[in-house]
Amino acid sequence: MAIKEPEVMNPYAQAVAQFDAAAERLNLSPSLRKILRKPKRELIVNFPVRMDDGTIEMYTGYRVQHNVNRGPAKGGIRFDSNVSLDEVRALAMWMTWKCAVVNIPFGGAKGGVIVDPHALSRTELERLTRRYATEIAGVIGPESDIPAPDVNTNPQIMAWIMDTYSMHHGYSVPAVVTGKPLSVGGSEGRMEATGRGVYITTREACKVLDIPLKGARVIVQGFGNVGSITARLLHEAGCKVVGLADVTGGYYNKNGIDVKMALRYSQEHGGLLKDLPHAEHVEGKGILEMPCDILIPAALEGQLTEENAPRVQAKLIIEAANGPTTNEADAIFHARGIPVVPDILANAGGVTVSYFEWVQDLQHFFWTEHEINERLERIMVRSFEAVEAKREEQNCDYRLAAYLLAVSRVAEATQVRGIYP
Ligand code: GLU
Repeated sequence: MAIKEPEVMNPYAQAVAQFDAAAERLNLSPSLRKILRKPKRELIVNFPVRMDDGTIEMYTGYRVQHNVNRGPAKGGIRFDSNVSLDEVRALAMWMTWKCAVVNIPFGGAKGGVIVDPHALSRTELERLTRRYATEIAGVIGPESDIPAPDVNTNPQIMAWIMDTYSMHHGYSVPAVVTGKPLSVGGSEGRMEATGRGVYITTREACKVLDIPLKGARVIVQGFGNVGSITARLLHEAGCKVVGLADVTGGYYNKNGIDVKMALRYSQEHGGLLKDLPHAEHVEGKGILEMPCDILIPAALEGQLTEENAPRVQAKLIIEAANGPTTNEADAIFHARGIPVVPDILANAGGVTVSYFEWVQDLQHFFWTEHEINERLERIMVRSFEAVEAKREEQNCDYRLAAYLLAVSRVAEATQVRGIYP
């Protein structure tokens, strides 16, 4: 996508610039552009949490709803020291497009709390979660806005949110949040869903681009829920995973890393890959520049930049993280002929199974893992094919093609509903 760099470089400005490029190509009316550039609702909450030693700490959290014209707002909650309002705005906007690309009836939202959850005890984390859930309780709900896990949040945290919301209402409301444990209305396959969707997208992209999956050298940056499952599924599909990375740095072995061993290793080492054996240690973000066929950023935003993009050696980039490629880097990859399959398509498997979870909770009727995976497969393949067809028709890159599909669906819903009053 050829995009003019915004003056102030932040995730929200990046997201708006991506939208603008699509709006331009779609010839959207000025009024629709004005509406879709802005999040509909932004909530900032400052709240106290009692620490285990009796002292009180203040925390700041956000919940942003970008657009709800296609359905209730949907999107995760992250707990991270680097959370900011502009980051949450960008992530909320990307959720709107993501739900539209895979054509599930949701709008986009995101939430976050500025906190390093690793510095909290379990009881502190629970109190923080319950208080944040209480603070945003006025805007979330099974028909209005449905949170889910994201960076540093997990099924246990979702269970606390569900319980807190339910306590306020006097009865259980499982559909208020997705990504819950199975025992309280979670869905089969949800834990794996984002990684499985990334795997399906990678497989489909490789078919189109004539890259044999068997033996393809893969690097995955990030070894959380998404990165670790993506790496395992690609390993099982016959790829050679040559690089892994987490906050402790990168690990590279040109002959391949045994992903199952790495998973065991991280489980035994506090969830970290630190000092992973049989691999060369690569400092910082260096793993992104190592030799491979498929590069999968599965960590945070802004990892591939104008600085490192010229040195990336991959033939194909699949965005498992949200916003891992800056617009400047995107233009470099486009010029270098390296296809980038965008986040809003590649990582949409998570929210797709969240949709299944929500539907099951509302009906109190649960599906088997096989049914979930089959439906996920169908939606991911159908969506990839639609984006691929758009790319060929418009002679553009994958990101713009995905945006053209998504933005036109959201614009159509916004237009047909009309402006109130
Ligand atoms: N946090 C995930 C994402 O960025 C999942 C959101 C959801 O399931 O609502 O897509």
